[in-house]
Amino acid sequence: MPKLVFIAKDPEYVPANVPEIVYALQQAGFLGEKWQSPESVLGDRYLIGDSFLSQVTFMGCAPAIELEPSLEQPDSTEFCHIEIEQIRNSVEFVRGSEHLISRCPRCRQRHANWKDIPETFTYACDKCEVETHLSEYDWKNTAGCGRFFISLHGIYPQEAIPTSHLLQTLEKISGIAWTYFYIQ
Ligand SMILES: [Zn+2]
Repeated sequence: MPKLVFIAKDPEYVPANVPEIVYALQQAGFLGEKWQSPESVLGDRYLIGDSFLSQVTFMGCAPAIELEPSLEQPDSTEFCHIEIEQIRNSVEFVRGSEHLISRCPRCRQRHANWKDIPETFTYACDKCEVETHLSEYDWKNTAGCGRFFISLHGIYPQEAIPTSHLLQTLEKISGIAWTYFYIQ
């Protein structure tokens, strides 16, 4: 299933206390109750909150997006819900698309022919030759780099866009700026 993934701009960021982040997102109305999912569904998953639809802008006139678990298929994850992912031991580069697009943070050169991602997570731009950590490149929402990911399941690329208010809420509760990308 596709998803929209939120990450802090600093790839090393991890919350000091995950339950506090969850509680604050519930207070903000982005997260709802914990999804009482069947055992076959792994991970820490939440239904959408009361203010969710005002924090995410859906594009198109009539999006056919399921907002609740299916009664017929209770183990189906194909509906819009939020997963607080396990903190990774080290920074991961998550590729959201076969066709990554990036811009160098120094010279704005566009790179669109990414194949292998360097294991060092740094890349020397082929135009300005400045070596930069991949988290500083502008990936145009096609990839992200981090240790802590909040995933909004059931959203196709560009189908929904987080409001600046939601990104500000994340910043307020974590003390750090956030961005997002899509996994197709
Ligand atoms: Zn460059």
